[in-house]
Amino acid sequence: MANKHKKKKVSISTITMVTVLVVFLGLGIFAITQSMTQGNDQAGGKVNINYAGQPSLGDANAPVKLVEFGDYKCPSCKAFHDTVFKQLKQDYIDTGKVQFSFINYQFLGEDSVTAGIAGESIFKQNPQAFWKFYEAIYENQGNEAEKWATPEFLIDLTKKHIPEVNAEQLSKDLNSKAYEKDVLADNRLAESYQVDSVPTIFVNGVKVENSLDYDALKKMIDAELQKK
Ligand code: CA
Repeated sequence: MANKHKKKKVSISTITMVTVLVVFLGLGIFAITQSMTQGNDQAGGKVNINYAGQPSLGDANAPVKLVEFGDYKCPSCKAFHDTVFKQLKQDYIDTGKVQFSFINYQFLGEDSVTAGIAGESIFKQNPQAFWKFYEAIYENQGNEAEKWATPEFLIDLTKKHIPEVNAEQLSKDLNSKAYEKDVLADNRLAESYQVDSVPTIFVNGVKVENSLDYDALKKMIDAELQKK
């Protein structure tokens, strides 16, 4: 940007001054726009994630906040759930060190959004039951290339694994796509944090390079715990 403006420099000093001003003004507006749209802390690539209204597991006062942006149809999300999440829950969530949240980034087909709507409906009915859904859907994940997360599948899954949830209400919510706008709002939130793949994990607002590398994740969490 600066180079572009430099090219315009002519020998007349007033024009140079004007150019410098334009560059400063331009950079200023650019920086303001960036921080407004992304909630970016320019210093360390850290983002201020808005967890409000999202399902969360563990102590609300835990010193470390971890969030997964996930798609229920994504095989790597299942791999994350089956390996890293289980270990994380045991080592950090159940011990009060980490609060874990889940935010939809459902983009792998129409039924990804349907599954997202089911998750939101169950969460609205019973926030704790959401985590049973999170467990059940990854345990019973179908082929990514096929449409399997249909209303029928999701209602059956719920009846079987989460009997405390009202399956009639879930059925109504799925038919009317009651929480579609919430799922799409989550997707937009993900994009505002430059999330472009799933699962994407942030530890206290810092994006994790490889979400399936538990040792690296552990190091990041321990470093954050050291700061407290
Ligand atoms: Ca949500």
